[in-house]
Amino acid sequence: MSGAGRGAVTRSRSRRPGRVEDAGSRPAAGSRLQPSPSEVNLEKGRQTPPDTSPFAVVPAGEAQVRPLKRQRRRPKAGSLEVCYEPLAGSGGEAAGLGPSGSSPWEPPAWRQHLDNIRDMRESRDAPVDQLGVEQCFDRDAPPEVQRYQVLLSLMLSSQTKDQVTAGAMRRLQAHGLSVDGVLRMDDATLGRLIYPVGFWKSKVRFIKQTTAILKDRYRGDIPATVAGLLQLPGVGPKMAHLAMAIAWGAVSGIAVDTHVHRIANRLQWTQTETKSPEQTRAALEDWLPRELWSEINWLLVGFGQQVCLPRHPRCASCLNRTLCPAARES
Ligand code: SF4
Repeated sequence: MSGAGRGAVTRSRSRRPGRVEDAGSRPAAGSRLQPSPSEVNLEKGRQTPPDTSPFAVVPAGEAQVRPLKRQRRRPKAGSLEVCYEPLAGSGGEAAGLGPSGSSPWEPPAWRQHLDNIRDMRESRDAPVDQLGVEQCFDRDAPPEVQRYQVLLSLMLSSQTKDQVTAGAMRRLQAHGLSVDGVLRMDDATLGRLIYPVGFWKSKVRFIKQTTAILKDRYRGDIPATVAGLLQLPGVGPKMAHLAMAIAWGAVSGIAVDTHVHRIANRLQWTQTETKSPEQTRAALEDWLPRELWSEINWLLVGFGQQVCLPRHPRCASCLNRTLCPAARES
């Protein structure tokens, strides 16, 4: 499960929980998550820089976190705010270069690939459309609780089918899914409620640790930067970028899960074969126009769930079958 901003181009970006503002002068700016085992390990060993972004949610007295008035409809792609990480972006697109400003390379026929995938995703009836993270948080809860629930559903969705994640979220919500509610919950109860999500025992530990950090350092809210999110136990890059998009309405990077990673390689959207989602993310961000960064996750996740399946892709019914280097006879 995942899928952020995917509705960006073709569907409204509904009900994002909120947006962050700093204390004063900041201008407007801005499942399935599978903590794959590698992600889980990554969290343990990750060294991330201090969260110094002006968008960081920091302890009281240093910044103000003010949820936006909740919106009932998601703005279309063009109205999404793009919040770049400090090292991203140099304006190279204006000179005809890739987003990094250093590479004019782009995959042949990628626009045709994309248009075809949009056509195949038009019905929006993939599991991610019905049960993705954007469908799993309580829209009637306070904004900071909505954001917390977004983060929790992302953590649960790693190595887990959308249906299983959605069921766990429903059980948690019935128990009161908030920072204080989870801190009051004993580990056995939390484990019983989230079972059978993948790696549920590890997730109990990560959820408890992350929730305690949110309580102590973020006044019960979630960080509003990728760097801050990555410091949380059990949160990997894909979750961080999806949380930024869904919880804060800011596009910080391409969220690459196993579907995006697989399809990008099959379509040769990377100059060379990539070995990990993080490599794929970097390769895609090098050339894919930023206005598509949010949509691409949603498009490819659903496409990967319905057509470009991991083991037996349905090439015969794929509109890209004559353009795809990996098309199979079947
Ligand atoms: S032709 Fe087959 S491998 Fe290529 S994108 Fe379509 S389903 Fe995937």
